[in-house]
Amino acid sequence: MNVKSILEFLFPPACPLCGTPVSNHGELCPKCWAGFNWISNPKCVRCGYPFPANLDLGPNPMCPTCASGNCELDWIRSACVYDDVSRSAMLPFKHAGRILYAPFMARAMITALNDVSHDIDIVMPVPLARRRLFHRAYNQATLLGRPIAKSLGIPMDLDSVRRKYRQNMGHMNARARSENIRGVFSVVCPDNVRGKRILLVDDVMTSGATFIELRRTLMACGAVAVYGVTFCRVVRAI
Ligand SMILES: [Zn+2]
Ligand SMILES: [Zn+2]
Repeated sequence: MNVKSILEFLFPPACPLCGTPVSNHGELCPKCWAGFNWISNPKCVRCGYPFPANLDLGPNPMCPTCASGNCELDWIRSACVYDDVSRSAMLPFKHAGRILYAPFMARAMITALNDVSHDIDIVMPVPLARRRLFHRAYNQATLLGRPIAKSLGIPMDLDSVRRKYRQNMGHMNARARSENIRGVFSVVCPDNVRGKRILLVDDVMTSGATFIELRRTLMACGAVAVYGVTFCRVVRAI
């Protein structure tokens, strides 16, 4: 028996959400997996907005926002829709130390990146203000970014951008969010982002205000493209 099989014997793989035995570590059981609203085709080719499954929109469908040239980033992919199920996994992951959810979330995000170009130079988790990082002890976006960077074989950048502390945006509407986030990011190592294609990683996309502001900041320092991947996203009717 080698070390790996001893560990497997002592700590058999279990679904991180419900504890049911599964065959691989970090994998969801079929029942928990089926509870999520995973995003598949048809979806917007730019922002990944999911369209109703029975709609035939041709090979490259675009949502009205992206068709009018207002996509938050150069493209965005999300693994699933923000709903009761994804929220009940995400909140403890973010605020209550359930970091063992990171492997299944990251794996779903890697799958969501299958249909986009992998011409990416840097993986950049959306930074957390230091004060928040101090209280929370970890940045949930970094926990997701690490396995994604590893799977893509691309370096992860945790140092080039800093974020100022601002009030929590949880309860704010879209306009208040975009005002609150203005000027919150600063690039401390412009040489690291100049000429680069950057994949931003976050747990959830709500209004897109964070992505828009971070993209604005990075492009001002010479980044050539800014993409995004999140575990879940809010889907409003269009
Ligand atoms: Zn389960
Ligand atoms: Zn779109």
